[in-house]
Amino acid sequence: MRRTRIEWTNATWNPVTGCTPISLACKNCYARRFADKAQKLGVLKYQHGFKITVHPELFDWPLKIRKPQMIFVNSMSDLFHEQLPDDVILKIFDVMEKADWHIFQVLTKRSARMAEFSAKYYPKWPDHVWAGVSVETSQYNYRIDHLRSFEASVHFISYEPLLDSVKPINLQDIEWVIVGGETGPNYRPMREEWVDEIFEECQKANVPFFFKQYAGPRQGWKRDYRGQIWEQYPAQLTLSSLDHGGTRSRERIRPTQNPKTNSRSS
Ligand code: SF4
Repeated sequence: MRRTRIEWTNATWNPVTGCTPISLACKNCYARRFADKAQKLGVLKYQHGFKITVHPELFDWPLKIRKPQMIFVNSMSDLFHEQLPDDVILKIFDVMEKADWHIFQVLTKRSARMAEFSAKYYPKWPDHVWAGVSVETSQYNYRIDHLRSFEASVHFISYEPLLDSVKPINLQDIEWVIVGGETGPNYRPMREEWVDEIFEECQKANVPFFFKQYAGPRQGWKRDYRGQIWEQYPAQLTLSSLDHGGTRSRERIRPTQNPKTNSRSS
C-alpha cells in the first residue's frame, strides 16, 4: 500500500497492475507512463511493464493496515479489465469485505463488466466499498447508467480528465462527483464552462463536489475553483473515524487567500 498524492484518497492498493486503453482518456495514461519507467528502472513489481499482472502477495495488505484509510483500489490498472478472471476480482472483494474499517474506492472505465459482475455476485456492495466510473466526455455517460444498476452506499463519478462538455448531466442516485483536468506533459485543455455545468448540477442535486485541479503540466495544478478549494465528500464518510490528510472533516471548502491552507497536510 502506498501513500498517494491523489487528492481524494489516502492510499493506493494495487493487487493488479497493467491495463490496455479503452477510451479517449487513456491517451496520456499516467499509470502506463509510471509502469514503463519502473520497468526500465528494474522494479520487480513492474517487470512486465504495463501488461496485466496479478500480485497475489499483495492481496492481504489492507488486512494488515489497522489504521482506517480511504484506499483507491487498482490505481495502476482497472479492476474490471476483461483479462482478469472473476475469481481474482472475487478474491479482492473478499479482502475488501473483511477489512471493513477502511473505505475502498473502486473506479473503472469497464462499467459494463462492473454491472455484470455486480448483478452476478454483489447486487449490493458492502457499505464501505464505494463504486465509481470515469467519464471524460458525454459519449461515456452510459457508464453512469451501469453504475446505477446495482446498490452501493456511494456511487461516484470521476470527471477526470474532463475533455469536453458532459451534458446532459443526470446525477440521480449519485453520491459524489470529482472533477479534474488532465495533467502531465501532453495535457489537453479543460474549459471552465464544462466544470460550471457539472458544478451547477451538483448544487441543484445536493451532490458533494470535489475539484481536483485545472488542466496543466503537473498534478495539483491550480486547485482553486470559484475562489475556493472544493473538497466535499459523501455524507457516508462519517461511517468511520477516517483520518484523511490530518482531518476528519467530511467537507473542506476553503478560501484560497492563504496558500498554506491548500496543503494536504494542513
Ligand atoms: S483504463 Fe485507466 S489505467 Fe487503463 S489505460 Fe485507461 S487510463 Fe490507463
